[in-house]
Amino acid sequence: CFVWLDMEHYEVKDLTLQLIRELLDEPGLEDLKAGVVIQAYLKDSRNDLADLIAWSSRRRNPIGVRLVKGAYWDYETIIAQQNGWPVPVFERKEETDANYERCVRLLHDHHTEASACFASHNLRSLAYAIAYARSKGIPDNGFEIQMLYGMAEPVHAAIRRLGLRLRVYAPVGELVPGMAYLVRRLLENTSNESFVRLRFAEGQELEQLVRPPGVDRLTDPGVPLARPLTLAGKPSPYEPEPLSEWRRPTARAAMAAAIERVDALGVCEVPFVIGETTMMTETTIDSVDPTHPDRVVARSARCTSGHVDNAIAAARGAQRAWATQSASERANVLFRAAEYFRTRRYDLAALQVVEAAKPWTEADADVCEAIDFCEYYGREALRLEHGAVVQSPPGETNRLRYQARGIGVVIAPWNFPLAIPVGMVAAALVTGNVVLFKPAEQTPAVALAIVDAFKAAGLPSGALSFLPGVGDEIGPALVEHRDIAFVTFTGSRGVGLAINEQAAVHRPGQRRVKKVVAEMGGKNPIIIDGDADLDQAVPAVVQSGFGFSGQKCSAASRVIVLGSVFDDFVGRLKGAADELNVGDPRESNTTVCPVIDSEAHVRLVGVVEGAGAQGEVLVSLDVPAEGYYVRPTVVVIDDPKKPIAVEELFGPVVCVIKARDFDHAIELANDTDYALTAGVFSRSPYNIDRAEHELQAGNIYVNRGITGAVVGRQPFGGFRLSGVGSKAGGPDYLLQFVEPRVTTENTIRQGFAPSTDPEAH
Ligand code: NAD
Repeated sequence: CFVWLDMEHYEVKDLTLQLIRELLDEPGLEDLKAGVVIQAYLKDSRNDLADLIAWSSRRRNPIGVRLVKGAYWDYETIIAQQNGWPVPVFERKEETDANYERCVRLLHDHHTEASACFASHNLRSLAYAIAYARSKGIPDNGFEIQMLYGMAEPVHAAIRRLGLRLRVYAPVGELVPGMAYLVRRLLENTSNESFVRLRFAEGQELEQLVRPPGVDRLTDPGVPLARPLTLAGKPSPYEPEPLSEWRRPTARAAMAAAIERVDALGVCEVPFVIGETTMMTETTIDSVDPTHPDRVVARSARCTSGHVDNAIAAARGAQRAWATQSASERANVLFRAAEYFRTRRYDLAALQVVEAAKPWTEADADVCEAIDFCEYYGREALRLEHGAVVQSPPGETNRLRYQARGIGVVIAPWNFPLAIPVGMVAAALVTGNVVLFKPAEQTPAVALAIVDAFKAAGLPSGALSFLPGVGDEIGPALVEHRDIAFVTFTGSRGVGLAINEQAAVHRPGQRRVKKVVAEMGGKNPIIIDGDADLDQAVPAVVQSGFGFSGQKCSAASRVIVLGSVFDDFVGRLKGAADELNVGDPRESNTTVCPVIDSEAHVRLVGVVEGAGAQGEVLVSLDVPAEGYYVRPTVVVIDDPKKPIAVEELFGPVVCVIKARDFDHAIELANDTDYALTAGVFSRSPYNIDRAEHELQAGNIYVNRGITGAVVGRQPFGGFRLSGVGSKAGGPDYLLQFVEPRVTTENTIRQGFAPSTDPEAH
């Protein structure tokens, strides 16, 4: 028996290497003949190879190593650049060639410790492997050369003539996956820098092609570098904070250690903060770990209307001084807060794992988004400081400037416990307002970090009051207060609509109309067209529907599938959903975890009789004391008139609905009160264009998942009953926190002559 483990993309490289070791270290497998691939285009391949050889040397039966150059260069480069990660592959072909030769030497220098196979179609690389082996006295049958069936056949013949060992390989099995494999190999070997292309298609001189790679020094594997503190006087262009590279053991170890640290903490005390006063209240609120509901994570103050009055007084005291600071000074506070979050990123993510049952990747992304909001809005405030361009005719100067609105309320949801409140608070503060911030009852410990961050960043006391409390108790007191100029809310539709109503009422002594920004929920559809690539669509739907247990406002809850692919899609979706890791979010690979007892997990859309095709099914879940894990559920709706039993709908739920044709699919998708996110999987440019124009949603995604909007790239927010306001993380967002003012100055009498330069106007 002989087992080879192939190597694909970098994401799974370490796992593959670990897997082969763990497998072969199993008792009884000491003598198994096995091999693994090393990709020389990876900057860390030489180190991996050295480790592998050292391990192999201790085995009774050394393993095989197939040395290749690697087939995913474009993909690895794009993924790293998209995410702001160090590029794992050499960026110059010569470096890969030189590294290949370095790895050849390492393998031959340890000839008896691992058996070497050289898979390449590059004559120089193969000749080097042969010549170096001979120089070391290794017999010609002491290593193997591997080439693809049908590729560069004259070279196969030459190698056989030399009496070397040649293995010719070909994909076997199903036709379509096999074709994909061959196409990849063809692309690789016909790329601009491929030896096969240069020699056999372009006829370049052999002498030229077999020259040693001209490289003095190989680039080291990069390590992720922490970004420097942004300075308002000299900000670099905005770039999103790179997500953790979980494929690196250091990132995984840092997160695991942070979770242990957070778990070791006792109950975290979360006081209210008003001006210089930091205190608990007599009655308190407990936030529990959803995975272990008997564990209290935090005990927070429970503020009431009396605290609102005190906070308003503190805000009034701080308001003027803060509003008259320059935009640079205020932006610097945001940049320093970003730095605070950056240096504590794993602890803050771990706290979300424990307090909000967020899986690792989601918790990490939430911290990054909080950093992004600070970095992005800081820069936006610098831009707005100059006002906007207006016309000034001769003899008159017009200036448009923005001023702060005043005292604002921020009310936040639990499901993005750091990022969303940071975004709302940062936007309000950086434009010169002062803020009363009420966090969600379920996640006060994470919210306290926001107050700590802004304090550490130099925000004057009074500019940000922190009022933990029960929504129904303190919410109306905040919203209805006559001195409040604006309310910024993110949460459920019911609360959002109530806030709009309360804020619209004029109270005695109130001197302004309150502005309300309310971001609410969605019942987000994804259309699967008849020609969609299901390999792409199924994982994206699973991630969009079930990632973080379906608790994101952007999560997919309705998948509308064209009839021709319906059965195939549903079968695959159910299969993929069954494979998800359901469990404790402390484990790195958990996707679906317990949900917090809140209305948020009721994102179930089914069909109820008499409610038309898109009636809503709302279900309340009781969280049993011992905790439970929710199961991802796929509900197939084949008869729009048939009611769905509520018991079927324990969340997270994705409903799959059959559409007759693309028109029908769009009609179904839009038949809802909401318009938050929507997606389409299609290969038809015509249908993609239709979806872009006709789908009613604030954020439309084509051929990708519908969650994970990034600040500055996908400004986020919906319309209809999904929200009022302009998009968070976008260029219009800060304008909601300011009042534009125009000053017009008559300059004729001051003796200024009109300029002859039209540009000067
Ligand atoms: P929620 O509406 O229950 O609570 C949100 C906040 O409102 C909490 O701080 C809560 O204490 C407060 N609140 C409750 N009653 C109040 C009242 N009467 N007056 C004032 N405040 C009150 O929502 P949640 O369960 O915390 O969050 C999940 C919801 O948020 C989901 O509906 C989700 O779709 C939505 N959401 C939307 C976005 C978006 O950007 N559109 C983002 C995240 C979450």
